[in-house]
Amino acid sequence: MPSFRDIPSVDELLNRPSLAALVVEAGRPYVTERIREVLEEARRQLRDAQDDPLADLEQRIARRVQEGLAPSLRPVINATGVILHTNLGRAPLSAEAAERVREAAASYTNLEYDLEAGRRGRRDVHAARLLGQLLGAPAMVVNNNAAAVLLALNTLAEGGEVVVSRGELIEIGGSFRIPEIMRKSGATLREVGTTNRTRIADYEAAIGPNTRLLLRVHPSNYRIVGFTERPALEQMVAAARRAGVPLLEDLGSGCMFDLRPCGIADEPQARLSLEAGVDLVCFSGDKLLGGPQAGILAGRQDLVEKLRRNPLFRALRVDKMTYAALEPTLAAYLRGRLDDLPVARMIRMPAEEIESRARAFVAQWHSPGSAALSAAPGAGLQLEIVAGESVIGGGSTPGQALKTTLLALRHASLTAAQLEERLRAATPPVIARVETDRVLLDLRTVFPSQEAALLSILESLAP
Ligand SMILES: *Cc1c(COP(=O)(O)O)cnc(C)c1O
Repeated sequence: MPSFRDIPSVDELLNRPSLAALVVEAGRPYVTERIREVLEEARRQLRDAQDDPLADLEQRIARRVQEGLAPSLRPVINATGVILHTNLGRAPLSAEAAERVREAAASYTNLEYDLEAGRRGRRDVHAARLLGQLLGAPAMVVNNNAAAVLLALNTLAEGGEVVVSRGELIEIGGSFRIPEIMRKSGATLREVGTTNRTRIADYEAAIGPNTRLLLRVHPSNYRIVGFTERPALEQMVAAARRAGVPLLEDLGSGCMFDLRPCGIADEPQARLSLEAGVDLVCFSGDKLLGGPQAGILAGRQDLVEKLRRNPLFRALRVDKMTYAALEPTLAAYLRGRLDDLPVARMIRMPAEEIESRARAFVAQWHSPGSAALSAAPGAGLQLEIVAGESVIGGGSTPGQALKTTLLALRHASLTAAQLEERLRAATPPVIARVETDRVLLDLRTVFPSQEAALLSILESLAP
């Protein structure tokens, strides 16, 4: 057992050749701090007479330095089949959007500079032209859809009442609750109807001298089935006109293409709402739209102008990276290049394509030389193909699913929960579903370029 006298000094450790590369990599002051921490621990462990804390001192220092500097945000493989997984950062960007972000990030841009006039310009002109072409209405961008709802309520209804159906007082993941946002906006909620049935007459009875706004919310992440009633959008438009107040529709997802060919019904499209006469719509940038985190507001020119003049807009504005990612995403729709956008591509990916990818994956697994075969009989990992369902997620298309083909994994000596944990600890981490006694992987949300990495992670778990 070593004694306190055997503990090396900070300087001696810093000058050891085995740590020289680390010192260059992480800088002397940073490594010095981590060495102090590790030595402090070693002293404590010596005092408690734990087994030799000096044995692997250098590795511990190296690990501490690497862990200390490693980014917390990392890419993961999404094998859950949930396309817009809020916990996994929702929409992956198109290749072009990612490239534009890279370019804008490391450079100066004309973010608030008018290149024609040669003087200060406005940040909110960016994306406005593309949004105008897509939606047929003036539009603006804020930090996310929660911010868009807050800005709209505060601008149009502060000090007054907003009429909403009880069936639409929703909570979205991450504690976005309509009644709470309403309170923060300074507007008063005027609830009408019941959870399952609200008629246009309920709205009309609630409209009075203090009414500033009618609000319609897409009940994104749940569905009421059975004895239900909700006024048609056209009825709400007419009611708002009669009352002389604007109608705001929180669409949630901002779908820009028809999902019916994929077997998904009832997902509202922003343009159709505006054409039906809704005064203002808002939706997320990173849900079905498939772009960066953002909130988009579009509608009547005078209302959009009013929102722009609200000082809150300054607090909710987006940075150059958001515009850099959003513009090529919007342009992809205008150019009809849906398959450039990963979210649209994954939603539209035919079930047969996923099945043939899954079969090819399993065939590779069973090919000579793969770890699955070289393992002893009964050991290793069993891969099986089963039918299943993917979901779009991200608070859209509740209760509706897309047919898919899953890889079902069973391990000889690990439970499904343990296997899932190992996958999560891999580099890159693999996020999977667990169902009773097996782990399920859905290739719909795994990029083909990630399949090789996935295969070798599985091989490393096979013995
Ligand atoms: C998702 C959602 C929001 C919140 O949007 P974020 O972009 O996550 O802020 C608000 N309203 C509805 C209806 C939603 O579906």
